[in-house]
Amino acid sequence: MATKVHRDVVVVGAGHAAHAAAVAAAQQGARVTVLEKAPEHARGGTGNFTGGRMRFPFETVEDLRPLVRDFSPDEEKQMQAWLARPGRKNTQAKLYDDFMRICEGRSDPNLVQVLVTQGFPTALWMAQTGFTWVPTLNNPLHIQPVQIVGGGWGMLAKWYELAEAMGVEHRYDTPAVSLLQDARGRVSGVRALTPEGYRDFTSGAVVLACGGYEANAEKRAAYLGPGWEQVPVRAVPYNTGDGHRMAFEVGAMPCGQWTFCHNVLVDIASPPFGRQSKVAGSQELDRSYLSLGILVNIRGERFVDEGDGFFNDNVTKVGPQVVRQPRGVAFEIFDAKVTPVIQQWRPVRGIEADTLEELADRLGIEDRQGFIRTVQRFNAAVQGGNFDPFILDGLATRGLPLPKTNWALPLDTPPYFGLAVTTGVTFSFGGLRIDQQAQVQDTRERSIPGLYACGTIVGGIFYNNYPGHCGLLSGATFGKIAGTHAAEEASVRRGAG
Ligand SMILES: Cc1cc2nc3c(=O)[nH]c(=O)nc-3n(C[C@H](O)[C@H](O)[C@H](O)COP(=O)(O)OP(=O)(O)OC[C@H]3O[C@@H](n4cnc5c(N)ncnc54)[C@H](O)[C@@H]3O)c2cc1C
Repeated sequence: MATKVHRDVVVVGAGHAAHAAAVAAAQQGARVTVLEKAPEHARGGTGNFTGGRMRFPFETVEDLRPLVRDFSPDEEKQMQAWLARPGRKNTQAKLYDDFMRICEGRSDPNLVQVLVTQGFPTALWMAQTGFTWVPTLNNPLHIQPVQIVGGGWGMLAKWYELAEAMGVEHRYDTPAVSLLQDARGRVSGVRALTPEGYRDFTSGAVVLACGGYEANAEKRAAYLGPGWEQVPVRAVPYNTGDGHRMAFEVGAMPCGQWTFCHNVLVDIASPPFGRQSKVAGSQELDRSYLSLGILVNIRGERFVDEGDGFFNDNVTKVGPQVVRQPRGVAFEIFDAKVTPVIQQWRPVRGIEADTLEELADRLGIEDRQGFIRTVQRFNAAVQGGNFDPFILDGLATRGLPLPKTNWALPLDTPPYFGLAVTTGVTFSFGGLRIDQQAQVQDTRERSIPGLYACGTIVGGIFYNNYPGHCGLLSGATFGKIAGTHAAEEASVRRGAG
């Protein structure tokens, strides 16, 4: 028999989106409980593994001033220079266009509109509650030139500090198992498995913020396809699609792209789940440098356009192709012209060799001659021009059936450098349908009373690809909206009750 606890708002999950919801609800005066599946020492969810970069739109350095409290004159100058580079401005109109272009026009325009118009006010709200950003201008892989102090780890630490100071209650080791409903179908709480046994947390409203299904190998194989059950997960083992199941049980509408996910290329020796680290989290194992070189499979063949857009707007398209290559592995190949650039962006250990033949052997490329032919053909197709990894430099190959459309330099300067990589899954795309108030929609296209959702569990936002740094933007923006509306609904019910 489950014992009962009553709260105004119950939030399921204790990651980034959950905290935006919990803090926003607490600001409305709601009594909030956050239920978290992970034990306390492993709390924080996926956000802990991030760089803390949120792609809110802004226009000028002036806009950033409330967020970046200690801009030095030098940093200001560098920021002006960054914003003056072609394609680097991140205005509302550009974010909307980028979103729709990158996600091939499939994203729910109403939800994208919310991200575009509410993203910056959400960042300002976070700044007012205590978050601070710092400029990070040395790495062209990043779309957003600022990050939250302390990266993802610092971001989650700040969320916990704020939530605890506002009286939000956290219950760890407490997975939610089902949603409670009253006789009229309103969601009236959550049943969870606490360390003491099953307990019902009744509430005026529930916010589901318990991530995607990326840690569930069976679901990955079922939705993403063969081979995906074997890929390493870049973050926590807890996101197994529990929230999706619980919501579908009360009639929620599945939404979005179930057959795609966020992924990047990672070190071939990555562990099955992410390693928590204050410094860089799973990003230590990221190996998405292919824009600086070429990518080949174990037969030494190229199979993607390595220069098809900035890393962060292109990154998810390559991983699925690597999953389909023999043995699910690939090799990034560079020469001495670009190795220093890689080491400056993020120092990484790989295989170095004086000849391409030796590099192929040491990396384990099985068709050495095939690989040499690939490099020769590639080098012969390179046109020359000004190489600049900070812009789409148009340095394209000519005449290859599979071009490289930017940053194409010949591989001709030893020592050569290679990285063995595979695909790492970051988070799933398919999820729940929500409206602009973050309220979960049912299969009759009606709002489910008392039920809200935010973060990765929401479907309909990302399709076929991912505009870089928009996961945290979505989590914070819809988290704040979900928490605010859940608190309002709870307050109305309290009044009515
Ligand atoms: C290595 C890495 C780098 C990234 N870098 C960036 C970046 O720089 N910028 C960016 O925008 N995005 C980035 N992302 C994506 C970003 O982390 C996610 O978009 C975001 O953190 C999702 O937040 P969330 O709160 O929805 O999910 P999560 O943070 O995953 O939180 C879900 C929580 O729910 C808990 N949970 C699961 N099931 C249950 C249950 N049944 N009951 C209770 N709790 C449950 C989980 O334990 C977890 O704590 C990165 C991701 C990774 C892995």
